[in-house]
Amino acid sequence: MDLKQVLKNTRFLLRYHGAYNQVPKAVEEMCELITELSKNYGHSTSKEKIQDEIADVIIMMLQMAQLFGFDEVRKRIEYKLHRQNKRISLARKDFYDTKVAEAFEDNIHYGE
Ligand SMILES: [Mg+2]
Repeated sequence: MDLKQVLKNTRFLLRYHGAYNQVPKAVEEMCELITELSKNYGHSTSKEKIQDEIADVIIMMLQMAQLFGFDEVRKRIEYKLHRQNKRISLARKDFYDTKVAEAFEDNIHYGE
């Protein structure tokens, strides 16, 4: 399933169940992921369980992004990745791959 189909399916879920139900469901799914990731510190969960909860959270977050403004969320993702990349490049010039910076610069057309 490609991203377009994933967005179509998650948009359907949001419309079918409604924001009133899906916002608390998103919180619930995030809590389940927090629980599984926390268990991982003690190695008392499985990789499959964590993968399952990550999938649940991504499904819910795609609904939340569409509810609160998908294009703005996408812009914030790009901005934050760019900012983080810039911080790393400044802190670790010796470690930084300039090709990564070029890739970001090619795709992002707004500054900080
Ligand atoms: Mg879950």
